[in-house]
Parts: sequence; structure tokens; C-alpha cells
Amino acid sequence: MDGQPSSSKTRPGGTEIPIVRHPEFYFPDGSIVMIVERTAFRVHQSILARHSEVFAALWDVPQPRNTDLYDGCPKVELQGDSLNDFMDVMRVLYDVFYFDKIKPETNLSALIKFISGILRISTKYSMNQLRNKCISVIQDKFPSTLKGCDDVLSRGIQYVPSEIVRIIPLARETIVPKVLPWAFYLCTHIPVDEIMANNVLEWRDKALCLAGKEHLWEMQKTLTHTFLLDFKQSPTCTTGCQMRVPRNLKLNDIESIRDSPHPLQEYTDWKSLMLCVKCQQAFEAQHKDGREKVWQMLPSIFHLGTWDDICKDQSA
Ligand SMILES: [Zn+2]
Repeated sequence: MDGQPSSSKTRPGGTEIPIVRHPEFYFPDGSIVMIVERTAFRVHQSILARHSEVFAALWDVPQPRNTDLYDGCPKVELQGDSLNDFMDVMRVLYDVFYFDKIKPETNLSALIKFISGILRISTKYSMNQLRNKCISVIQDKFPSTLKGCDDVLSRGIQYVPSEIVRIIPLARETIVPKVLPWAFYLCTHIPVDEIMANNVLEWRDKALCLAGKEHLWEMQKTLTHTFLLDFKQSPTCTTGCQMRVPRNLKLNDIESIRDSPHPLQEYTDWKSLMLCVKCQQAFEAQHKDGREKVWQMLPSIFHLGTWDDICKDQSA
């Protein structure tokens, strides 16, 4: 991390790129200079150490006398971090109200932009509180429980495909697998052509989205929405529902469900089916049970293991 030659230090001609002082985070009473992409942040060692286990451990050992100095302060060069990401973390550390910029109405795109850099840096440098804060912000939109799923569906959150796909590589990079099953589920609603042309997702993830779409369609047919797609009356049916179930699903409707399978969508319009009590009760129970099964199987559909595996990976 410190003192290693950096490829970004020199220009193509071999001359060294000068260090510039960050206009906002170069405090005259700062005690340490952090260099990120040739920009110097003169900040407070104790504040960084308070938030980051990695920095705390780094400064826990006595520094050698010949420590590299910049403007009279020990200098630490961070490798591989983005200037914007580091700047976002400084904003959080020095502005107690920074997270208040996120409002309930903040759209997903702005939200992802807001937390991406903070999540990357906080993960890399074990800034655990900050990382957990970012995770709770994303998990509010990408639930990891069926109850959370019902909540986001009832809130009618608008998920724009270009925003959902960005969550997948971010969650993988920063080890937040709990958001992946719901992110993949949403991705199955993106038209196949768009998935194929997407330049954010890796090919393996594209394949998972396409195969997942088929799985979810099967589940919708056989586990959750059987009463709409493949109706068979209950053995205890009292009035021959099979004969008069409303055949209101046309081929186009079925094709559209197949294109965007949504087995987790809760069905509530039971009265319109005009079923006998026995059939309605049987299908309501099957629907509820089916949704729970789909939720349980959601991670494995996208080759993510089980929910238990995911929870272990995220907390490891
Ligand atoms: Zn019936």
C-alpha cells in the first residue's frame, strides 16, 4: 500500500505526474496525507483509524524514522482505488449528515451512484459500520426475505434495467451476495436482446438470467399461478369449477407472462375467478405455499447456493 511504485505516477514520456492537493479535504491540521490517483488528502489519522480496521492496524505499529513525508506529514499511497470513491468516503467521514442526502424518493440510479464508491472503499479497508450502512441502503431495494420482497412490491419501486444490472457486478465485487437473487430475478424481465447486448453483465450472468427466466416461468405455471395457467379443479370441488373457470388468458397474455415471469407477484383478485369455496381455498393455499417455495429456491436458480450459503458468505 505504501511506497510501492505506481504505474499511475508517471506519464507516457516518463515524467512524474505532480501531486495535487484536494481542494476540500486538505486540512491544515491534518496529520496524515493519503495519496489517491496523485491527489493528496491531508486528513486526520485518528479519524481514519477509528473507522477502518485496516488503517488502525497499519498505524498500530511504530512507523520507521525514514517514513516518507509530504508537507511534513506521513504519506500513504493507496493503490488501485478511484479518486471519486475515496472522495465519497471522505465526505461521509467529515459530513455527519451526508447519508441524509438519500431520500425515500431517491431513484435507484442515484442511489447506486451514491453508495458504490463508499461500499468499495469501506469493504477494502474494513470500515465495517460504513459498509453495513451501505448494505442496508441497498437491501432496502433488493430484499433477502419474502417479507422484504412483498414490501418492495407493495411500494411499487421502479426498477430500470440499466440500473439493476449495475448492482450485480457491484454486489459480487463488494461481497454483498444477499442482494443478488432479487437482482437476478428482476433481470429476467429484461428482454433477451437487451440482455445479450448489455455491456455491464458478464456472459455467465447473462446465461443465468436467460436460464432463470425459463425456471421462473415453469415455477409460475406449476407452483404459484397454476389456477390461471393450467387450471385443474380441486378434488373436493362442489360446483364443477373446471367447466366455468374464466378463460380470460389469451395466448398473448400467456406469452407476455412467459417473457417476464413473475411467480412472486401476489395474486389477490380471487373473487373475479368465481370459483367455489373449496377450489378458492385450495388455490389460495397453493399460491401462498408456491411463493414460499419460489423464494427459497431463488438463489439456486441463479447458481448462488442457498439463502444460508449466501448469508454465510456475506458475513464472512
Ligand atoms: Zn370448485
